[in-house]
Amino acid sequence: MKGIESILNTGGKDNPIVHVEYMDTKNFNKSELFPILTELYRNKYSNRQPKVIITSDDYALDFMLEHRDALFPGVPVVFCGANNFKDARLNGQTGYTGVVEAIDMFHTVRIALMLHPDAKHLVAVADTTRSGLINRQAFLSMIEEFKGQYSIIDLHDWTAEELAQELKILPKDSVIFNLSFFRDNLDTLFTAVQGNQFIKEHSPYPVYSFWDFSLGTGVVGGMLVSGVLQGQEAGEMALKILKGTPVKDVPIVRESPNMYMFDHLALVEAGIDTARLPENSLVINKPQSFYDNYKREIYFLAGTLGCLIILIIIMAANILQRRKAQAELMSIFHNTQAGILHLKGGRIVYRANQRMADILGYDTPSELHGKNVKDFHIDVTHYTQFGKDFYDTLVSSQSVTTEYQLKRKDGTPVWVALSGKAMDQVHPPNLNSGVVWIIQDISERKQAEEDLEALNRELESKVQIRTLELKEQADELEAVNRRLLKFDELKSAFLNTVSHDLRTPLTSIRGFVRLIQRDFDKTFSCNLGGCDRKTKKIGNRITANLNILVEESNRLTRLINDFLDLSKIESGGMQWRDQSLNLGTTISKIAHLLAIHFQANKDIQLRVDVPETLPTIHADPDRIIQILDNLVGNASKFTEKGYISIRAFASSPKKVVVEVKDTGIGIPEEELPHIFDKFHQVETDDTLRDTIKGTGLGLAICKEIVDHYKGEMWVTSEANKGSTFAFSLPTEAADQ
Ligand code: ADP
Repeated sequence: MKGIESILNTGGKDNPIVHVEYMDTKNFNKSELFPILTELYRNKYSNRQPKVIITSDDYALDFMLEHRDALFPGVPVVFCGANNFKDARLNGQTGYTGVVEAIDMFHTVRIALMLHPDAKHLVAVADTTRSGLINRQAFLSMIEEFKGQYSIIDLHDWTAEELAQELKILPKDSVIFNLSFFRDNLDTLFTAVQGNQFIKEHSPYPVYSFWDFSLGTGVVGGMLVSGVLQGQEAGEMALKILKGTPVKDVPIVRESPNMYMFDHLALVEAGIDTARLPENSLVINKPQSFYDNYKREIYFLAGTLGCLIILIIIMAANILQRRKAQAELMSIFHNTQAGILHLKGGRIVYRANQRMADILGYDTPSELHGKNVKDFHIDVTHYTQFGKDFYDTLVSSQSVTTEYQLKRKDGTPVWVALSGKAMDQVHPPNLNSGVVWIIQDISERKQAEEDLEALNRELESKVQIRTLELKEQADELEAVNRRLLKFDELKSAFLNTVSHDLRTPLTSIRGFVRLIQRDFDKTFSCNLGGCDRKTKKIGNRITANLNILVEESNRLTRLINDFLDLSKIESGGMQWRDQSLNLGTTISKIAHLLAIHFQANKDIQLRVDVPETLPTIHADPDRIIQILDNLVGNASKFTEKGYISIRAFASSPKKVVVEVKDTGIGIPEEELPHIFDKFHQVETDDTLRDTIKGTGLGLAICKEIVDHYKGEMWVTSEANKGSTFAFSLPTEAADQ
């Protein structure tokens, strides 16, 4: 049942319902029992037929073979514990399958002989029941092959008393095999337990058997028929059928599922070491080891211990790590380039590093330990004031940062940058439990700052002195400038007046000189032919001197005119009669007049390249003509041969350019930057230049006029090749 239940009754909700019927065939006669059971089962199951029937042992199978069709028609039967089953036993009936039970005498005898190597006598005990007879027969034929080595003692056909006698006189080194012991010749019944116990009571020799139900009754063991294995096998088959496999597809298991089984108590009694048992043997009554008894507790403890060990390892690793970190921290603490002061309990040094000792002029940090910080302040007043200044900040968990002067061991002061904070994490922190100060020596920086400040002060005073000096100089210069401007004004006014005043007498002088010249020519020159040489010579000299007078007075007139023009432009007194002007037509109109400047010199050509369609400008035509007259006049003065060209073009829609080019003597490069300065004349040993008497104001006037119209004027020149004077003026379009 144990075997069957282990398969069918696993505790799940889908387990089939199992009804168990005990037939009790060992205690009753089959012929009496079967009709009663038939009646009973008919009553019980006629209305609720089972799905599958499992029979255990031969009588149950016999009952089904006889009555199944009547009681449980068509219900599949799974048998187990059917001894030496042959298909013929089914007698053609279908719907039967199961597991065969066959005792294994050979393996049982062989293991008995292995475990008792000294055995000499094999004793067979069998009763006269049907199985007793069958088993004895089978045993005797199987034992044939051992016959030569062992004596066979065959105990059968006995009363209990006779058997007891026989057992008692068994020879030494006997091994007993209980083949069947349920009834003696006096029909005394024995259970399996009683049978085995009987043998044990009357014989000291080991007893072997073939069924697992014999175990625990004093039998050593053997290759036993296992009711549990039979039941399990039958259970599996029944389950298959319940799940829908047709019974014909569940084949009969013909190999009896036997196994080596032993009783530890009997093994000990027989002096057999369990190590000699075959592998996978089942041993019952094994003494429970401490491990067996406290398996759960041991696992629990081992688990706990394992956890503890892991915990210890982790903690050890942690401790090592912390130690390493601590060592690293201490190394940082001692080697850091900032002084660290750890104060505790009322401003007393608890710990300090080497740098701190260095800053304060002590040899080692331990010299500082236990000292009151009062020793590091310049005096008690500073010490008290420091406490007052920073106590509140520290108590409010904030950090103090300041620059402060401490006192070194030798009494000298040292500037430091302090940064301190309470160590206590609670709020407000208890300062007695620790305040850490980080201290940097800043005396060098302080010194540098002081030096810099002194330098700054010095520099500032120097700058002040210099500024005063410069101001004085500037004032002086300004005064000079004012004086100069005044002089300039005076000079201009003077020259203006003088020029005006000179013009009238100069006009008279020129008029009278011309009159004298004419009168002289008319009255004396024609008669000079009859005069002596001396008179002739004097007459010619008078004529030449009169010519010089005319020329010089002309030059003076030009100078005055030029000067007055320039003064007018500069003083703003010039009258500008501006109008829309086409430079092309203007230049074309006056070109022949300009050519008068060099009409006496046939070696000079005039070239005019002026398009009629130039953009108009807004200017006074007289002033433009004045510029052109000046430039062409200059060109003709300094050109002996070649050409003088006048070109005009629009360099852009906003600008018109006029160029006057000559092939004359040119201007030395170093003179060019000053060429437009007033009264500037190029001084060279050039004979041509020397003969020409100019005023040095012409170009300056041109430049003033061009400037007035917001134009530009420039010159390019190459010595002995010629010069090009050019000016540009904005067009009317650009002006708007
Ligand atoms: P000036 O009345 O002396 O000609 P300008 O101001 O007109 O005064 O000219 C200044 C000087 O520039 C002249 O004296 C002359 O030396 C030089 N100069 C002007 N134009 C030319 C030129 N086309 N070729 C060479 N030299 C020139």
